[in-house]
Amino acid sequence: MRTQIAIIGAGPSGLLLGQLLHQAGIDNVVVERQTGDYVLGRIRAGVLEQVTMDLLARAGVDARAKAEGLPHHGIELLFQGARHRIDLHGLSGGKQVTVYGQTEVTRDLMEARTAAGLTTVYGAANVSLHDFDGSAPRVRYEKDGATHEIECDFIAGCDGYHGVSRASVPAQAIHLHEKVYPFGWLGVLADVPPVSDELIYCNTQRGFALCSMRSHTRSRYYVQVPLEERVENWSDEAFWNELRARLDPEARERLVTGPSLEKSIAPLRSFVAEPMRFGRLFLAGDAAHIVPPTGAKGLNLAAGDVGYLSEAFIRHYAERSTAALDRYSELCLRRVWKAERFSWWFTSLMHRFPAEGEFGQKIQEAELDYLVHSKAASTSLAENYVGLPMESF
Ligand SMILES: Cc1cc2nc3c(=O)[nH]c(=O)nc-3n(C[C@H](O)[C@H](O)[C@H](O)COP(=O)(O)OP(=O)(O)OC[C@H]3O[C@@H](n4cnc5c(N)ncnc54)[C@H](O)[C@@H]3O)c2cc1C
Repeated sequence: MRTQIAIIGAGPSGLLLGQLLHQAGIDNVVVERQTGDYVLGRIRAGVLEQVTMDLLARAGVDARAKAEGLPHHGIELLFQGARHRIDLHGLSGGKQVTVYGQTEVTRDLMEARTAAGLTTVYGAANVSLHDFDGSAPRVRYEKDGATHEIECDFIAGCDGYHGVSRASVPAQAIHLHEKVYPFGWLGVLADVPPVSDELIYCNTQRGFALCSMRSHTRSRYYVQVPLEERVENWSDEAFWNELRARLDPEARERLVTGPSLEKSIAPLRSFVAEPMRFGRLFLAGDAAHIVPPTGAKGLNLAAGDVGYLSEAFIRHYAERSTAALDRYSELCLRRVWKAERFSWWFTSLMHRFPAEGEFGQKIQEAELDYLVHSKAASTSLAENYVGLPMESF
């Protein structure tokens, strides 16, 4: 098989890149190791920045996100038992975020790909990348007992943190930065109406909690748990009791509980691989960087990367120039590090760090008090939360 761009991974970055390239007439093949149903079964992000909505529009897949997504103009911060609203819209010059689940984004992209008749290989085993340091890269995989090969101009490594793309780069060519936090998020998805119209981020003596949602009838809640905690130890009832204990009296009163549709623990990590380009291999999304979910930047960063990458490929084929491809890594990493900083800061502000004790809690409360009463500090939070703008090549 021959294509212009071989894309490894059918997560949001791989599928969105495929769609953006297709709109520009650039041929691409997606190779995914899981089945389509497995990919769709993963419950992950749910808050989309305007930059991401704009990219979905450019890819021609924003109709349902616009119709069914919930525009949010603010968030609430709960600390010392009281809630304070941050007016994202007012403080960011009229911007907003849209609550629309990653599962739905993925479904929309998959359907568009099928409708366009584009090739996606699901269930590809032992995917391997070859000769990306030369002029004729290849991707090999096994399926139905046979070995297949794709010849291409470029490879896009969109295969997430555990993928094969980053792992294929020689160790001496890549620099890894990592910070692991001493806790995770225990998350529950349930078909119950959300406790509030906007997200509530809670800093409490018992640890962090987040009240989030996917729609008016489906809620996503999280509580901070120690890293070694196991999901089997948490009945639905135990989860709801712990969440309730971290809320203010009004939210506690309004909380509607129900059976969990999904329950899992996600560890929190900050991670960046530099650079994001190795010859004819380009990394994008979680393959290159991870943020802790506080601040909802993971999916949005992945979208930003493929926004840059699609533009660089389009310019390459239109202008026969490598100028934009040569700037890809630098432009992405500038934006990535700002999101890493914001996600680390918001995580540090909102969670209980056992080693920091009461002093750490007091410092957090002082900063939160400053944050909600200083226009400058609230504006900085709002600007970062709604998403920083993308630069042009
Ligand atoms: C539990 C969890 C909760 C999260 N919650 C949030 C949140 O609330 N907000 C937020 O912004 N972000 C969140 N994130 C992060 C967000 O989901 C990711 O940033 C986003 O999925 C990145 O998309 P991606 O396409 O780069 O990677 P992925 O979604 O990981 O997709 C990579 C794809 O590559 C495939 N793949 C892997 N290895 C191979 C291989 N060898 N060959 C072929 N294919 C391969 C995988 O199966 C997968 O389909 C969460 C992540 C997790 C894990």
